[in-house]
Amino acid sequence: MSIIDFHTHLDEAWLGNSLMSSEDFIAGLDKTGVDIACIFTMQGFYEDCPRHNDLLLKRADRYPDRLIPFATVDPKQGAQAVKETKRCLSNPRFRGMKFHTWIQSFAPSMVKETMIDILHCAAEHKVPVLFHDGTPPYATTFQIADLARQVPEADIVLGHAGLADYVYPAGQLLRDIPNLYACLCGPRCGDLQYLIQEAGSHKILFGSDFGIAEWLLLAERLDNVYAADLSPDDLHRVLYQNAARLLKLDQSPLSAADATSIVPKGDLT
Ligand SMILES: [Zn+2]
Repeated sequence: MSIIDFHTHLDEAWLGNSLMSSEDFIAGLDKTGVDIACIFTMQGFYEDCPRHNDLLLKRADRYPDRLIPFATVDPKQGAQAVKETKRCLSNPRFRGMKFHTWIQSFAPSMVKETMIDILHCAAEHKVPVLFHDGTPPYATTFQIADLARQVPEADIVLGHAGLADYVYPAGQLLRDIPNLYACLCGPRCGDLQYLIQEAGSHKILFGSDFGIAEWLLLAERLDNVYAADLSPDDLHRVLYQNAARLLKLDQSPLSAADATSIVPKGDLT
C-alpha cells in the first residue's frame, strides 16, 4: 500500500539538540513503508525563514521522488513575508506552506491582512497550507479553521486534527467547512473513527511529526491508523489518496528532473 506522511520535520537541530540526518530519515521511511514525506523546517520557525527554506529545499532535492518541502514565512514581517511566500512558491518543488502559530508567536488575527495575502498566494499556486493546531493561546483549532472560512479558495490543513482537547470540534469544523482538512498527527484510533464518521474519510490525511523523534514515533502513529479498522477504501484515502490530491501528484508526479538548487533571490512582485 502506498503511504504519504503529510507532516514531518527534517532539520539539523531543534533548540540546540541535533536531529536525525537525511539518511536516517529516509531509512525510517523505508522501515515503516512510507513512500513520500512532506518535510517542514524546525529552526525556520524561530529565525531567518528564507535561509531555512533554502536549506530545506536542498535536503529535499537529495531525494526528489520521496521528499516534498513545505516553506514557511513569518507573517509578522508583513509584505516581506508575502514576498518570501511568492519566492518559494515560484519553485514547483515547494508544494505547500507550513505555519506553527504558537512557536512563531502570532495569533492569525494579529496579522490578518498579511495572512490573507499569503493564503491567496497559496491558493493561486494551488498548494495546501498546514497549520499546527490544538494548543492555546495562538493555535486553537477554532482559530485555524477561521482562516479556512476567510479564504475559501485555499486548502487549509489542521496539522494535528485537534490534537487532544479539540478533536471533537475539529470533526464538526471539518464537516462544515469544505476547504478544511485535517492531518491525523497525534489523535488516536478512536478519534480517527469519530473524525471519519463526522466529516468523511476524504477530509483526513496521515501525518506523524517524524523527524523530531525517531522512527518508532512514525510506526506508532501508523498503528493508530491501522487499529481504527477502516474499510480498504477509507484506509487508502487517509494514507495516500487525499494527500496525493492536495499535492497534485496526478498532474505533476515527483521527478528527479525537478530537483533544483536554490530558489532565485531576485525581486518577485
Ligand atoms: Zn509538527
